[in-house]
Amino acid sequence: MNTYKLPELPYSFDALEPYIDAQTMEIHHGKHHSGYVAKLNAAIENTELADKSLEVLLASASSIPTAVRNNGGGHFNHSLFWTIMGTEHGTNPTGDLESELDKTFGSFDTFKDEFSAAAATRFGSGWAWLIVVDGQLKITSTPNQDNPLMDVVDTKGTPILGLDVWEHAYYLKYQNRRPEYIENFFNVINWKEV
Ligand code: MN
Repeated sequence: MNTYKLPELPYSFDALEPYIDAQTMEIHHGKHHSGYVAKLNAAIENTELADKSLEVLLASASSIPTAVRNNGGGHFNHSLFWTIMGTEHGTNPTGDLESELDKTFGSFDTFKDEFSAAAATRFGSGWAWLIVVDGQLKITSTPNQDNPLMDVVDTKGTPILGLDVWEHAYYLKYQNRRPEYIENFFNVINWKEV
């Protein structure tokens, strides 16, 4: 039987300042992510879904209860999101990732433009993703707490970078200025983890 737990943030709430503020991080982790974990546990408790891994549940998103899809997605997405940000600010990808990004998108700047556009144009709440599909990098986006591991999305793959564009991720600091939040997100990406 699986019981999911809220992972600890790998840094302090204020570690992403001034790009992402401490209060947003505290509420985002302690209230939003924690809420997804609690509701996911409640939704699978005493069902056969509790015996399956989260990845298996997400891969069958089309046939699981909506509460498991939404809160399981929320738990997976935020768990990834915390790890792909970090305390070293303003870095760029290096090594294999740098060369794959160049090969796929032409340059890092083009990748950044295309990823930012995917994040900016996602209507309403959702996520922008950099995924690996058959060894190739691709940019995609999903609504709500869906993600590229789910069988309900158009473009499936393994997410290696995700950006939360729900208003709860940026509204306290940026209000309606989502593009400014996206631009500043690039300052806190932990490229080594990606
Ligand atoms: Mn969020």
